[in-house]
Amino acid sequence: MNSLLLKSAAELSALLRAGEITSVELTTACLDRIEALNPKVNAFLYVDREGALEVARGVDAARAEGQELHPLAGIPIAVKDNICTRGIPTTAASKILEGWRPPYDASVVVKIKEARLPIVGKTNMDEFAMGSSTEHSAFGPSRNPWDLNRIPGGSGGGSAAAVGAFMVPLALGSDTGGSIRQPAAVTGTVGTKPTYGAVSRFGLIAMASSLDQIGPVTRTVEDAALLQELLSGHDPHDSTSLPDTPSGLVAACHGEAGSWEGAGSDPERPLEGLKVGLVEEMHGEGYAPGVLEAFENAVARMRELGAETVELSCPSFHYSLAAYYLIMPAEVSSNLARFDGMRYGLRVEPEEGPVTAETVMRATRAAGFGEEVKRRIILGTHVLSAGNFDAFYGAALRVRTLVQRDLEQAFSRCHVIVSPTSPTVAFPFGSKTNDPLAMYLNDIATIPANLAGIPGISLPAGLSEGLPVGLQILSPARADALMYRVAAAIDAALGHNVPAACPARDWEE
Ligand code: GLN
Repeated sequence: MNSLLLKSAAELSALLRAGEITSVELTTACLDRIEALNPKVNAFLYVDREGALEVARGVDAARAEGQELHPLAGIPIAVKDNICTRGIPTTAASKILEGWRPPYDASVVVKIKEARLPIVGKTNMDEFAMGSSTEHSAFGPSRNPWDLNRIPGGSGGGSAAAVGAFMVPLALGSDTGGSIRQPAAVTGTVGTKPTYGAVSRFGLIAMASSLDQIGPVTRTVEDAALLQELLSGHDPHDSTSLPDTPSGLVAACHGEAGSWEGAGSDPERPLEGLKVGLVEEMHGEGYAPGVLEAFENAVARMRELGAETVELSCPSFHYSLAAYYLIMPAEVSSNLARFDGMRYGLRVEPEEGPVTAETVMRATRAAGFGEEVKRRIILGTHVLSAGNFDAFYGAALRVRTLVQRDLEQAFSRCHVIVSPTSPTVAFPFGSKTNDPLAMYLNDIATIPANLAGIPGISLPAGLSEGLPVGLQILSPARADALMYRVAAAIDAALGHNVPAACPARDWEE
Protein backbone atom coordinates (compact mmCIF):
# COMPACT_ATOMS: atom_id res chain seq x y z
CA MET A 1 0.00 0.00 0.00
CA ASN A 2 1.09 3.57 -0.61
CA SER A 3 2.55 4.68 2.74
CA LEU A 4 0.64 7.98 2.56
CA LEU A 5 -2.50 6.01 3.38
CA LEU A 6 -1.15 5.15 6.84
CA LYS A 7 -0.84 8.80 7.78
CA SER A 8 -3.32 10.89 9.72
CA ALA A 9 -5.07 13.86 8.15
CA ALA A 10 -2.99 16.19 10.36
CA GLU A 11 0.24 14.65 9.00
CA LEU A 12 -1.05 14.77 5.41
CA SER A 13 -2.02 18.39 5.87
CA ALA A 14 1.56 19.26 6.84
CA LEU A 15 2.95 17.37 3.82
CA LEU A 16 0.53 19.07 1.45
CA ARG A 17 1.31 22.51 2.85
CA ALA A 18 5.03 21.91 2.61
CA GLY A 19 4.58 20.95 -1.05
CA GLU A 20 6.03 17.48 -0.43
CA ILE A 21 2.99 15.73 -1.86
CA THR A 22 0.09 16.77 -4.07
CA SER A 23 -3.59 16.23 -3.50
CA VAL A 24 -3.82 14.42 -6.85
CA GLU A 25 -1.18 11.93 -5.68
CA LEU A 26 -2.96 11.36 -2.36
CA THR A 27 -6.45 11.19 -3.83
CA THR A 28 -5.30 8.77 -6.53
CA ALA A 29 -3.76 6.51 -3.86
CA CYS A 30 -7.08 6.46 -1.97
CA LEU A 31 -9.12 5.81 -5.11
CA ASP A 32 -6.79 3.00 -6.24
CA ARG A 33 -7.03 1.29 -2.86
CA ILE A 34 -10.82 1.69 -2.80
CA GLU A 35 -11.05 0.19 -6.28
CA ALA A 36 -8.84 -2.74 -5.30
CA LEU A 37 -10.39 -3.51 -1.91
CA ASN A 38 -14.02 -2.52 -2.17
CA PRO A 39 -15.08 -5.86 -3.71
CA LYS A 40 -13.78 -7.44 -0.48
CA VAL A 41 -14.95 -4.84 2.09
CA ASN A 42 -18.07 -3.32 0.44
CA ALA A 43 -17.49 -0.08 2.32
CA PHE A 44 -18.56 2.10 -0.62
CA LEU A 45 -21.88 2.16 -2.46
CA TYR A 46 -20.63 4.75 -4.94
CA VAL A 47 -17.19 6.02 -5.92
CA ASP A 48 -16.74 9.40 -7.61
CA ARG A 49 -13.25 9.16 -9.11
CA GLU A 50 -13.62 12.02 -11.57
CA GLY A 51 -15.30 14.39 -9.13
CA ALA A 52 -12.68 13.75 -6.46
CA LEU A 53 -9.75 14.20 -8.84
CA GLU A 54 -11.18 17.42 -10.20
CA VAL A 55 -11.25 18.90 -6.68
CA ALA A 56 -7.71 17.59 -6.03
CA ARG A 57 -6.39 19.21 -9.22
CA GLY A 58 -8.03 22.50 -8.22
CA VAL A 59 -6.40 22.39 -4.78
CA ASP A 60 -2.96 21.70 -6.26
CA ALA A 61 -3.33 24.58 -8.71
CA ALA A 62 -4.52 26.96 -5.97
CA ARG A 63 -1.62 25.96 -3.76
CA ALA A 64 0.86 26.48 -6.58
CA GLU A 65 -0.52 30.02 -6.92
CA GLY A 66 0.08 30.56 -3.21
CA GLN A 67 -3.61 30.85 -2.25
CA GLU A 68 -4.57 30.56 1.44
CA LEU A 69 -6.34 27.19 1.88
CA HIS A 70 -8.18 25.37 4.67
CA PRO A 71 -5.83 23.00 6.60
CA LEU A 72 -7.83 20.00 5.36
CA ALA A 73 -7.92 21.18 1.71
CA GLY A 74 -6.93 18.36 -0.62
CA ILE A 75 -7.46 15.58 1.93
CA PRO A 76 -9.92 12.94 0.67
CA ILE A 77 -13.10 12.20 2.61
CA ALA A 78 -15.92 9.65 2.36
CA VAL A 79 -19.55 10.56 3.09
CA LYS A 80 -22.17 8.26 4.63
CA ASP A 81 -24.91 7.55 2.13
CA ASN A 82 -27.69 9.18 4.17
CA ILE A 83 -26.08 12.61 3.67
CA CYS A 84 -27.25 14.43 0.53
CA THR A 85 -24.69 15.14 -2.17
CA ARG A 86 -25.95 17.12 -5.16
CA GLY A 87 -26.05 15.05 -8.34
CA ILE A 88 -24.42 12.05 -6.63
CA PRO A 89 -26.60 9.04 -5.77
CA THR A 90 -27.78 9.09 -2.14
CA THR A 91 -29.71 5.99 -1.14
CA ALA A 92 -29.43 5.61 2.65
CA ALA A 93 -28.78 1.98 1.60
CA SER A 94 -32.45 1.54 0.74
CA LYS A 95 -34.06 0.23 -2.44
CA ILE A 96 -36.68 2.94 -2.08
CA LEU A 97 -34.05 5.60 -2.91
CA GLU A 98 -32.07 3.60 -5.46
CA GLY A 99 -30.89 5.92 -8.25
CA TRP A 100 -32.05 9.11 -6.50
CA ARG A 101 -29.70 12.03 -7.05
CA PRO A 102 -30.39 14.87 -4.60
CA PRO A 103 -30.91 18.34 -6.09
CA TYR A 104 -28.98 19.92 -3.20
CA ASP A 105 -26.04 19.41 -0.85
CA ALA A 106 -26.36 18.84 2.90
CA SER A 107 -24.93 21.80 4.84
CA VAL A 108 -21.95 19.68 5.94
CA VAL A 109 -21.24 18.84 2.29
CA VAL A 110 -21.35 22.55 1.41
CA LYS A 111 -18.70 23.12 4.09
CA ILE A 112 -16.57 20.24 2.79
CA LYS A 113 -16.77 21.63 -0.73
CA GLU A 114 -15.91 25.16 0.43
CA ALA A 115 -12.86 23.78 2.27
CA ARG A 116 -12.05 21.77 -0.90
CA LEU A 117 -11.79 18.21 0.40
CA PRO A 118 -12.17 15.71 -2.47
CA ILE A 119 -15.24 13.50 -1.80
CA VAL A 120 -14.20 10.02 -2.93
CA GLY A 121 -17.60 8.40 -2.52
CA LYS A 122 -20.60 7.38 -0.47
CA THR A 123 -20.38 4.74 2.23
CA ASN A 124 -22.54 1.74 3.03
CA MET A 125 -24.77 1.60 6.09
CA ASP A 126 -27.78 -0.14 7.59
CA GLU A 127 -30.90 0.93 5.69
CA PHE A 128 -31.93 4.43 6.88
CA ALA A 129 -29.31 4.06 9.67
CA MET A 130 -31.30 1.36 11.47
CA GLY A 131 -28.98 -1.29 12.82
CA SER A 132 -25.65 -2.09 14.43
CA SER A 133 -23.97 -4.27 11.81
CA THR A 134 -24.71 -3.05 8.22
CA GLU A 135 -26.51 -6.36 7.72
CA HIS A 136 -29.68 -4.32 7.11
CA SER A 137 -28.17 -2.59 4.05
CA ALA A 138 -30.21 -3.33 0.90
CA PHE A 139 -26.87 -3.63 -0.93
CA GLY A 140 -25.14 -6.25 1.22
CA PRO A 141 -23.12 -5.78 4.42
CA SER A 142 -19.73 -4.12 4.77
CA ARG A 143 -16.97 -6.24 6.27
CA ASN A 144 -14.70 -5.58 9.23
CA PRO A 145 -11.07 -4.95 8.15
CA TRP A 146 -9.90 -6.84 11.28
CA ASP A 147 -11.77 -10.00 10.29
CA LEU A 148 -13.80 -10.19 7.09
CA ASN A 149 -16.22 -12.66 8.69
CA ARG A 150 -17.28 -10.11 11.27
CA ILE A 151 -19.51 -7.05 11.24
CA PRO A 152 -17.94 -3.57 11.05
CA GLY A 153 -20.65 -2.20 13.37
CA GLY A 154 -23.56 -0.08 12.29
CA SER A 155 -25.25 1.75 11.09
CA GLY A 156 -22.12 3.54 9.87
CA GLY A 157 -20.10 0.38 9.22
CA GLY A 158 -19.09 1.52 5.72
CA SER A 159 -17.44 4.74 6.93
CA ALA A 160 -15.67 2.90 9.77
CA ALA A 161 -14.48 0.07 7.51
CA ALA A 162 -13.22 2.56 4.88
CA VAL A 163 -11.18 4.49 7.46
CA GLY A 164 -10.08 1.33 9.32
CA ALA A 165 -8.90 -0.36 6.10
CA PHE A 166 -6.82 2.72 5.14
CA MET A 167 -8.97 3.48 2.10
CA VAL A 168 -9.46 7.09 3.20
CA PRO A 169 -8.30 9.09 6.25
CA LEU A 170 -11.60 10.88 6.97
CA ALA A 171 -15.28 10.01 6.78
CA LEU A 172 -18.65 11.34 7.90
CA GLY A 173 -21.10 9.36 9.97
CA SER A 174 -24.44 9.99 11.66
CA ASP A 175 -25.25 8.93 15.21
CA THR A 176 -28.84 8.47 16.41
CA GLY A 177 -28.13 5.86 19.07
CA GLY A 178 -24.47 5.03 18.51
CA SER A 179 -23.97 4.66 14.75
CA ILE A 180 -20.71 6.62 14.72
CA ARG A 181 -19.27 5.40 18.04
CA GLN A 182 -20.07 1.66 17.93
CA PRO A 183 -18.64 1.11 14.39
CA ALA A 184 -15.56 3.08 15.48
CA ALA A 185 -15.21 0.84 18.55
CA VAL A 186 -15.37 -2.45 16.65
CA THR A 187 -13.04 -1.32 13.82
CA GLY A 188 -10.35 0.32 15.96
CA THR A 189 -11.09 3.81 14.66
CA VAL A 190 -12.17 7.09 16.30
CA GLY A 191 -15.73 8.38 16.05
CA THR A 192 -17.46 11.37 17.63
CA LYS A 193 -21.07 12.28 18.19
CA PRO A 194 -20.87 16.04 18.79
CA THR A 195 -23.21 17.92 21.14
CA TYR A 196 -26.71 17.91 19.63
CA GLY A 197 -26.98 21.01 17.45
CA ALA A 198 -23.21 21.52 17.05
CA VAL A 199 -23.28 20.21 13.47
CA SER A 200 -26.13 20.99 11.08
CA ARG A 201 -28.52 18.16 10.21
CA PHE A 202 -29.81 19.96 7.10
CA GLY A 203 -29.57 17.45 4.25
CA LEU A 204 -29.17 14.43 6.51
CA ILE A 205 -31.92 11.95 5.63
CA ALA A 206 -33.76 12.01 8.94
CA MET A 207 -34.10 8.90 11.06
CA ALA A 208 -35.11 10.30 14.48
CA SER A 209 -34.65 14.07 14.37
CA SER A 210 -34.39 14.70 18.12
CA LEU A 211 -31.51 12.18 18.34
CA ASP A 212 -29.68 12.38 14.98
CA GLN A 213 -26.29 14.07 14.83
CA ILE A 214 -23.60 14.11 12.09
CA GLY A 215 -19.98 13.64 13.15
CA PRO A 216 -16.44 12.57 12.16
CA VAL A 217 -14.90 9.10 11.69
CA THR A 218 -11.07 9.11 11.68
CA ARG A 219 -8.02 7.19 12.93
CA THR A 220 -6.78 9.75 15.48
CA VAL A 221 -8.50 12.00 18.01
CA GLU A 222 -6.85 15.10 16.57
CA ASP A 223 -8.22 14.30 13.10
CA ALA A 224 -11.71 14.01 14.59
CA ALA A 225 -11.27 17.45 16.18
CA LEU A 226 -10.04 18.93 12.88
CA LEU A 227 -13.02 17.52 11.01
CA GLN A 228 -15.61 18.46 13.66
CA GLU A 229 -14.33 22.03 13.63
CA LEU A 230 -14.82 22.16 9.88
CA LEU A 231 -18.37 20.76 10.17
CA SER A 232 -19.49 22.96 13.09
CA GLY A 233 -21.22 26.31 12.98
CA HIS A 234 -24.71 27.73 13.20
CA ASP A 235 -26.94 26.89 10.24
CA PRO A 236 -30.16 28.84 9.68
CA HIS A 237 -31.50 25.84 7.67
CA ASP A 238 -31.58 23.70 10.83
CA SER A 239 -33.83 25.02 13.58
CA THR A 240 -32.03 22.92 16.21
CA SER A 241 -28.59 24.26 15.25
CA LEU A 242 -26.85 25.93 18.20
CA PRO A 243 -26.21 29.68 17.89
CA ASP A 244 -22.63 29.29 19.15
CA THR A 245 -21.16 25.88 18.43
CA PRO A 246 -18.37 24.40 20.58
CA SER A 247 -14.92 25.56 19.42
CA GLY A 248 -11.27 25.13 20.41
CA LEU A 249 -11.39 21.40 19.64
CA VAL A 250 -8.00 21.15 17.92
CA ALA A 251 -6.40 23.45 20.50
CA ALA A 252 -7.85 21.15 23.19
CA CYS A 253 -6.02 18.19 21.63
CA HIS A 254 -2.79 20.12 22.23
CA GLY A 255 -3.76 20.96 25.84
CA GLU A 256 -4.50 24.59 24.96
CA ALA A 257 -8.29 24.62 25.51
CA GLY A 258 -11.01 22.54 27.16
CA SER A 259 -9.40 22.66 30.60
CA TRP A 260 -11.13 21.78 33.90
CA GLU A 261 -11.15 23.25 37.37
CA GLY A 262 -8.05 22.10 39.22
CA ALA A 263 -6.07 21.07 36.10
CA GLY A 264 -2.33 20.74 36.70
CA SER A 265 0.52 21.78 34.42
CA ASP A 266 2.85 18.75 34.57
CA PRO A 267 3.14 17.46 30.96
CA GLU A 268 3.72 13.94 32.34
CA ARG A 269 0.35 14.08 34.09
CA PRO A 270 -2.00 15.67 31.53
CA LEU A 271 -5.13 14.47 33.39
CA GLU A 272 -4.11 15.90 36.80
CA GLY A 273 -7.17 17.10 38.71
CA LEU A 274 -9.61 15.50 36.27
CA LYS A 275 -12.51 13.67 37.91
CA VAL A 276 -13.57 10.70 35.80
CA GLY A 277 -16.99 9.19 36.47
CA LEU A 278 -17.44 5.42 36.30
CA VAL A 279 -21.15 4.68 36.02
CA GLU A 280 -22.10 1.41 37.67
CA GLU A 281 -24.80 0.70 35.05
CA MET A 282 -22.24 1.06 32.19
CA HIS A 283 -19.58 -1.50 32.94
CA GLY A 284 -21.07 -4.57 34.57
CA GLU A 285 -23.65 -7.11 33.55
CA GLY A 286 -23.89 -7.85 29.83
CA TYR A 287 -20.34 -6.66 28.99
CA ALA A 288 -17.86 -9.26 27.71
CA PRO A 289 -14.99 -9.99 30.15
CA GLY A 290 -12.33 -9.13 27.54
CA VAL A 291 -14.00 -5.78 26.88
CA LEU A 292 -14.10 -5.01 30.60
CA GLU A 293 -10.45 -5.93 30.96
CA ALA A 294 -9.36 -3.55 28.18
CA PHE A 295 -11.60 -0.88 29.67
CA GLU A 296 -10.12 -1.30 33.15
CA ASN A 297 -6.61 -1.08 31.72
CA ALA A 298 -7.52 2.19 30.03
CA VAL A 299 -8.94 3.53 33.31
CA ALA A 300 -5.76 2.50 35.13
CA ARG A 301 -3.78 4.40 32.50
CA MET A 302 -5.96 7.48 33.09
CA ARG A 303 -5.14 7.28 36.81
CA GLU A 304 -1.42 7.15 35.97
CA LEU A 305 -1.94 10.29 33.91
CA GLY A 306 -3.28 12.02 37.02
CA ALA A 307 -7.04 11.40 36.85
CA GLU A 308 -9.11 10.60 39.91
CA THR A 309 -12.01 8.16 39.46
CA VAL A 310 -15.46 8.62 41.01
CA GLU A 311 -18.01 5.77 41.29
CA LEU A 312 -21.49 6.87 40.21
CA SER A 313 -24.91 5.42 39.59
CA CYS A 314 -27.43 6.47 36.92
CA PRO A 315 -30.43 4.24 37.72
CA SER A 316 -32.50 5.51 34.76
CA PHE A 317 -29.98 3.91 32.37
CA HIS A 318 -31.73 0.59 33.03
CA TYR A 319 -34.66 1.98 31.04
CA SER A 320 -32.79 4.08 28.47
CA LEU A 321 -32.64 1.37 25.80
CA ALA A 322 -36.39 0.75 26.14
CA ALA A 323 -37.11 4.49 25.99
CA TYR A 324 -34.92 4.87 22.89
CA TYR A 325 -36.69 1.99 21.15
CA LEU A 326 -40.02 3.83 21.64
CA ILE A 327 -38.98 7.43 20.90
CA MET A 328 -36.80 6.55 17.88
CA PRO A 329 -39.44 4.42 16.04
CA ALA A 330 -42.10 7.06 16.78
CA GLU A 331 -39.96 9.65 14.97
CA VAL A 332 -39.01 7.13 12.26
CA SER A 333 -42.67 6.43 11.45
CA SER A 334 -43.25 10.13 10.92
CA ASN A 335 -40.00 10.91 9.08
CA LEU A 336 -40.31 7.98 6.67
CA ALA A 337 -43.87 8.87 5.69
CA ARG A 338 -42.39 11.03 2.92
CA PHE A 339 -41.24 7.96 0.98
CA ASP A 340 -44.52 7.46 -0.83
CA GLY A 341 -43.57 6.59 -4.40
CA MET A 342 -44.50 10.08 -5.61
CA ARG A 343 -41.64 12.30 -4.54
CA TYR A 344 -38.36 10.40 -4.71
CA GLY A 345 -36.76 7.24 -6.03
CA LEU A 346 -38.74 4.04 -6.45
CA ARG A 347 -42.33 3.96 -7.67
CA VAL A 348 -44.15 0.64 -7.89
CA GLU A 349 -47.67 0.22 -9.26
CA PRO A 350 -49.92 -2.50 -7.85
CA GLU A 351 -49.98 -5.72 -9.89
CA GLU A 352 -53.75 -5.73 -9.97
CA GLY A 353 -56.63 -3.46 -9.05
CA PRO A 354 -56.91 0.30 -9.41
CA VAL A 355 -53.88 2.58 -9.53
CA THR A 356 -54.57 5.19 -6.86
CA ALA A 357 -52.28 7.24 -4.64
CA GLU A 358 -52.91 4.79 -1.83
CA THR A 359 -52.29 1.58 -3.80
CA VAL A 360 -49.08 3.00 -5.36
CA MET A 361 -47.91 4.08 -1.93
CA ARG A 362 -48.60 0.63 -0.50
CA ALA A 363 -46.87 -1.24 -3.35
CA THR A 364 -43.87 1.13 -3.31
CA ARG A 365 -43.34 0.91 0.44
CA ALA A 366 -43.85 -2.87 0.47
CA ALA A 367 -41.21 -3.33 -2.25
CA GLY A 368 -38.85 -0.52 -1.25
CA PHE A 369 -38.39 -0.88 2.50
CA GLY A 370 -36.49 -3.71 4.17
CA GLU A 371 -37.71 -5.75 7.12
CA GLU A 372 -36.07 -3.73 9.90
CA VAL A 373 -37.40 -0.44 8.51
CA LYS A 374 -40.91 -1.89 8.31
CA ARG A 375 -40.61 -3.25 11.85
CA ARG A 376 -39.76 0.21 13.20
CA ILE A 377 -42.45 2.03 11.19
CA ILE A 378 -45.07 -0.39 12.53
CA LEU A 379 -43.79 -0.08 16.09
CA GLY A 380 -43.66 3.73 15.83
CA THR A 381 -47.16 3.97 14.40
CA HIS A 382 -48.39 1.74 17.22
CA VAL A 383 -46.79 3.75 20.04
CA LEU A 384 -48.14 7.00 18.61
CA SER A 385 -51.71 5.72 18.14
CA ALA A 386 -54.42 7.38 20.25
CA GLY A 387 -54.90 4.57 22.77
CA ASN A 388 -51.17 3.96 23.31
CA PHE A 389 -49.60 7.38 23.10
CA ASP A 390 -49.42 8.12 26.79
CA ALA A 391 -48.60 4.61 27.97
CA PHE A 392 -45.67 4.19 25.55
CA TYR A 393 -44.46 7.43 23.97
CA GLY A 394 -45.33 9.56 27.01
CA ALA A 395 -43.63 7.13 29.39
CA ALA A 396 -40.52 7.06 27.18
CA LEU A 397 -40.33 10.85 27.18
CA ARG A 398 -40.46 10.81 30.98
CA VAL A 399 -37.56 8.32 31.07
CA ARG A 400 -35.67 10.61 28.70
CA THR A 401 -36.02 13.41 31.27
CA LEU A 402 -34.76 11.08 34.01
CA VAL A 403 -31.70 10.17 31.90
CA GLN A 404 -30.97 13.88 31.45
CA ARG A 405 -31.32 14.46 35.20
CA ASP A 406 -29.12 11.49 36.12
CA LEU A 407 -26.43 12.79 33.79
CA GLU A 408 -26.70 16.32 35.18
CA GLN A 409 -26.24 14.94 38.68
CA ALA A 410 -23.35 12.76 37.55
CA PHE A 411 -21.60 15.76 35.98
CA SER A 412 -21.94 17.68 39.24
CA ARG A 413 -19.51 15.10 40.67
CA CYS A 414 -17.15 14.51 37.72
CA HIS A 415 -15.85 16.25 34.59
CA VAL A 416 -16.24 13.36 32.16
CA ILE A 417 -17.76 9.86 32.20
CA VAL A 418 -15.97 6.88 30.67
CA SER A 419 -17.33 3.45 29.69
CA PRO A 420 -16.77 0.75 27.11
CA THR A 421 -18.39 1.94 23.86
CA SER A 422 -19.88 -1.41 23.01
CA PRO A 423 -20.55 -4.46 25.21
CA THR A 424 -18.71 -6.87 22.89
CA VAL A 425 -16.08 -6.89 20.19
CA ALA A 426 -17.19 -7.28 16.54
CA PHE A 427 -19.45 -10.32 16.25
CA PRO A 428 -19.64 -12.77 13.31
CA PHE A 429 -22.16 -12.16 10.53
CA GLY A 430 -25.54 -13.74 11.09
CA SER A 431 -25.18 -14.17 14.83
CA LYS A 432 -27.79 -11.54 15.72
CA THR A 433 -29.63 -10.95 12.45
CA ASN A 434 -32.73 -12.88 13.47
CA ASP A 435 -32.87 -11.56 16.98
CA PRO A 436 -33.69 -7.83 16.94
CA LEU A 437 -33.42 -7.55 20.73
CA ALA A 438 -29.88 -8.97 20.79
CA MET A 439 -28.99 -6.50 18.03
CA TYR A 440 -30.52 -3.58 19.98
CA LEU A 441 -28.39 -4.40 23.05
CA ASN A 442 -25.27 -3.23 21.18
CA ASP A 443 -26.41 0.33 21.84
CA ILE A 444 -26.69 0.03 25.60
CA ALA A 445 -23.72 2.32 26.35
CA THR A 446 -24.15 4.80 23.51
CA ILE A 447 -27.86 5.67 23.73
CA PRO A 448 -27.84 7.84 26.91
CA ALA A 449 -25.75 10.50 25.10
CA ASN A 450 -28.33 10.77 22.30
CA LEU A 451 -31.24 10.95 24.74
CA ALA A 452 -29.49 13.76 26.63
CA GLY A 453 -27.94 15.57 23.63
CA ILE A 454 -24.42 15.41 25.11
CA PRO A 455 -21.24 14.70 23.13
CA GLY A 456 -19.48 11.32 23.09
CA ILE A 457 -16.33 10.00 21.47
CA SER A 458 -15.09 6.44 21.00
CA LEU A 459 -11.37 5.79 20.67
CA PRO A 460 -9.40 2.55 20.52
CA ALA A 461 -8.51 1.32 24.01
CA GLY A 462 -6.78 -1.96 23.21
CA LEU A 463 -7.59 -5.43 21.95
CA SER A 464 -9.58 -8.42 23.16
CA GLU A 465 -9.39 -11.73 21.25
CA GLY A 466 -7.24 -9.81 18.75
CA LEU A 467 -10.12 -7.43 18.01
CA PRO A 468 -10.43 -3.73 18.92
CA VAL A 469 -12.24 -2.48 22.02
CA GLY A 470 -13.54 1.09 22.17
CA LEU A 471 -13.36 3.49 25.09
CA GLN A 472 -16.23 5.98 25.26
CA ILE A 473 -15.79 9.44 26.82
CA LEU A 474 -18.86 11.55 27.56
CA SER A 475 -18.87 15.18 28.64
CA PRO A 476 -21.59 17.74 29.42
CA ALA A 477 -23.37 19.41 26.51
CA ARG A 478 -21.19 21.98 24.71
CA ALA A 479 -18.08 20.73 26.53
CA ASP A 480 -16.82 19.03 23.36
CA ALA A 481 -13.40 20.67 23.83
CA LEU A 482 -13.01 19.08 27.28
CA MET A 483 -13.92 15.68 25.80
CA TYR A 484 -11.32 16.08 23.02
CA ARG A 485 -8.64 17.20 25.47
CA VAL A 486 -9.14 14.08 27.61
CA ALA A 487 -9.42 11.80 24.56
CA ALA A 488 -6.25 13.18 22.96
CA ALA A 489 -4.28 12.66 26.18
CA ILE A 490 -5.39 9.03 26.38
CA ASP A 491 -4.80 8.46 22.65
CA ALA A 492 -1.22 9.75 23.07
CA ALA A 493 -0.65 7.67 26.23
CA LEU A 494 -1.90 4.51 24.54
CA GLY A 495 0.43 5.26 21.64
CA HIS A 496 -2.18 5.80 18.88
CA ASN A 497 -1.34 2.20 18.06
CA VAL A 498 -4.56 0.24 17.63
CA PRO A 499 -5.49 1.30 14.06
CA ALA A 500 -1.90 0.69 12.96
CA ALA A 501 -2.16 -2.94 14.15
CA CYS A 502 -5.05 -3.67 11.77
CA PRO A 503 -4.32 -6.63 9.46
CA ALA A 504 -5.73 -4.62 6.51
CA ARG A 505 -2.36 -2.86 6.53
CA ASP A 506 -0.82 -5.89 4.91
CA TRP A 507 -3.51 -6.62 2.35
CA GLU A 508 -2.31 -6.84 -1.22
CA GLU A 509 -4.06 -4.39 -3.49
N1 GLN B 1 -28.01 0.82 16.28
C1 GLN B 1 -28.93 1.86 16.64
C2 GLN B 1 -30.26 1.64 15.96
O1 GLN B 1 -30.38 0.66 15.32
C3 GLN B 1 -28.37 3.19 16.34
C4 GLN B 1 -28.60 3.67 14.97
C5 GLN B 1 -27.99 5.00 14.70
O2 GLN B 1 -27.30 5.58 15.53
N2 GLN B 1 -28.29 5.50 13.52
O3 GLN B 1 -31.17 2.39 16.09
